[in-house]
Amino acid sequence: MPKVYLLLGGNLGNRTLYLQQARESINHRVGIIAQSSKVYETAAWGKTDQPTFLNQVLEVETILSPEEALQSINAIEQELGRVRLEHWGARVIDIDILFYDDLVQQTQRLTIPHPQLHLRRFTLMPLTEIAPNLVHPVLGKSTTVLLENCPDELEVKVYEKAAE
Ligand code: ATP
Ligand code: CA
Ligand code: CA
Repeated sequence: MPKVYLLLGGNLGNRTLYLQQARESINHRVGIIAQSSKVYETAAWGKTDQPTFLNQVLEVETILSPEEALQSINAIEQELGRVRLEHWGARVIDIDILFYDDLVQQTQRLTIPHPQLHLRRFTLMPLTEIAPNLVHPVLGKSTTVLLENCPDELEVKVYEKAAE
């Protein structure tokens, strides 16, 4: 069965609860979660004047095609109340496809592997935790090596669950 790696992120409201609800919906609508990373906390990347993010990476076994998986994750984002105001703005939940097996594809709607994943420590830290030997099909390097070479200096910490 194809394996898809998903990055979850959010920086509004009860962030832990949104992650949990996203995991439940993914289990129902995308496939079985085979592995999940710890939850990590990072200052906002790109557009920095907004609350800090929680992020988590999941490995999911799916029978969906990449396009079907994107449709499902878009539906889950909608259900959880994501409102698109501005690119890279604050959101309750964002779900990105990082890898889909070793597929390489670039269409207007969907680029796999995710084009920014090697530039983002908040993505590589949880990804390396659950898939340290996974090789990026375009860059030809493992997630571990990508993390070592990552220029992003934003600190990424394991999130110690706090009352929100
Ligand atoms: P970034 O992609 O830089 O993390 P973002 O997640 O904030 O930014 P969104 O507004 O959530 O961007 O997504 C914009 C569009 O990106 C989506 O509607 C989707 O069609 C497209 N897209 C392209 N490749 C992917 C991918 N690998 N995973 C998820 N969405 C993707
Ligand atoms: Ca994203
Ligand atoms: Ca997204």
